[in-house]
Amino acid sequence: MNIHQNKVRALGLCSGGLDSILAALLLKQQGIDVAWITFETPFFSSDKAVSASEMVHIPLTILDITEPYLKMLKNPPCGYGQNMNPCMDCHAMMFRMAGDVMKERGMQFLFSGEVLGQRPMSQTRSSLKYVEKHSGYKGYIVRPLSARLLDETVAEAEGLICRERMLGLSGRSRKPQMELAREWGVTRYPAPGGGCLLTDPGYSRRLKDLFDHQSVYTGNELYLLKYGRHIRLSDEVKIIVGRTRQDNDNILNHYDATRDILLKARLIPGPVVLVSGRPNPALIHRTAEISAGYCKAAVDTWVDIEVVAPGCTNVLRVMGKRPEAADMI
Ligand code: SF4
Repeated sequence: MNIHQNKVRALGLCSGGLDSILAALLLKQQGIDVAWITFETPFFSSDKAVSASEMVHIPLTILDITEPYLKMLKNPPCGYGQNMNPCMDCHAMMFRMAGDVMKERGMQFLFSGEVLGQRPMSQTRSSLKYVEKHSGYKGYIVRPLSARLLDETVAEAEGLICRERMLGLSGRSRKPQMELAREWGVTRYPAPGGGCLLTDPGYSRRLKDLFDHQSVYTGNELYLLKYGRHIRLSDEVKIIVGRTRQDNDNILNHYDATRDILLKARLIPGPVVLVSGRPNPALIHRTAEISAGYCKAAVDTWVDIEVVAPGCTNVLRVMGKRPEAADMI
């Protein structure tokens, strides 16, 4: 027998933040059977949603949407925010995918912790409407924290939930949410924002450079945009220089031995340098000079740089040279 037969079931988009948690708890208090869904790409992870799910015991589904997300990200119909963040189309895509799961599982509506007017671009009344329209689930998205200020949804019209028992929050203040959290014993939750690399100016610059120079790219290349200094040597060749031991480890973890080239100073501490693209011998030499320029050798001394390419390893003896400022991405 299906235990959910008579229960109203709703699927929430979960960022893992306090607003997601409160929205779910508000519905739970009305007897709704709530579950969450969250999404993964190289730009944002499910970590916070997983913690929230463990804390408040709401089951969570994690979907990797990298492939369709990349297609949208190259040309988002509504454009980008301040950096490479296509927030409106990102939300519309997430609701569309969540809606498909809702339908598959026979659930009755979607919900999120969005608060009207909390974010200047993506949470205005017209943005919320854009997202609804382009998600394909118009009328099926409940925003319990602001519901009393928004149009009636299908779930309210059908009497599945009570509008009066939801909230009418708006604006940027987080005080009411923090008070509710205290009242309901929600003690651990992450600070708002900060989880999306597409809002980071440095990451966005490197991503745009990748889009401008390559039509296809691997997941590794997207992850590598997070680490080290990125230096463009030609339209086809870019190098990544580790800045810290952590960067070096991350570069090694995402390095593809079948196509990338790695450089590292011999016997002297220095960065791992990864070459991506098809460099000619002159660019390999230039990369070796840059590797030497960032290692701990004294100025004007010869440095042996090991060059590991697919199927062969060489050593080049060079003097250090820093890259041109204009080549830094
Ligand atoms: S901040 Fe990132 S994850 Fe959030 S809506 Fe914008 S693009 Fe999507």
